[in-house]
Amino acid sequence: MAKLQIRWVPDPILKTKCAPVEDVDDTVRAFLYDMLETMYAAPGIGLAAPQVGLAKRMLVLDVSDDRSQPLKLINPEIIDVSDTDAVYEEGCLSVPEHYANVSRPDWVEVRYLDEHGNTCTVTADGLLATCVQHEIDHLDGIVFLDHLSSLKRNMILRKMIKAKKSRNRDAAA
Ligand code: ZN
Repeated sequence: MAKLQIRWVPDPILKTKCAPVEDVDDTVRAFLYDMLETMYAAPGIGLAAPQVGLAKRMLVLDVSDDRSQPLKLINPEIIDVSDTDAVYEEGCLSVPEHYANVSRPDWVEVRYLDEHGNTCTVTADGLLATCVQHEIDHLDGIVFLDHLSSLKRNMILRKMIKAKKSRNRDAAA
């Protein structure tokens, strides 16, 4: 297993609409394991493939307190949503150290392929609902900043550009 490098905004891959996974094979399974390891190490509760440089529709999640309930979703699709919304303070491994309130449907039903290629559905509410919608957004090139006012978004983006410059300097040193 290998830890993958997490891309930060602004990065073109985080604006990319990702392609479906065609075959659920060993390469896909190995990548999902690496994504999970990267997410746990970060630490985070969700990670989508474009955040680690692969423009494919897959993501991993674990919102449990003891990090014992990993979910791996391939080609996830939201097939039903609640009429009511909930607001959560969101953060993102691609936008480290910035948080903001985002309103989303408070439950969703999601259809996806598991790591063996079986079609599954999950009904998510609470934190899992927020997290799965946030991660599916990534597969469509959307980050949580896109749900904020342009004023707030641009303020965070400016700070991220500075943070990325010092990250690159550190990497070169
Ligand atoms: Zn994110």
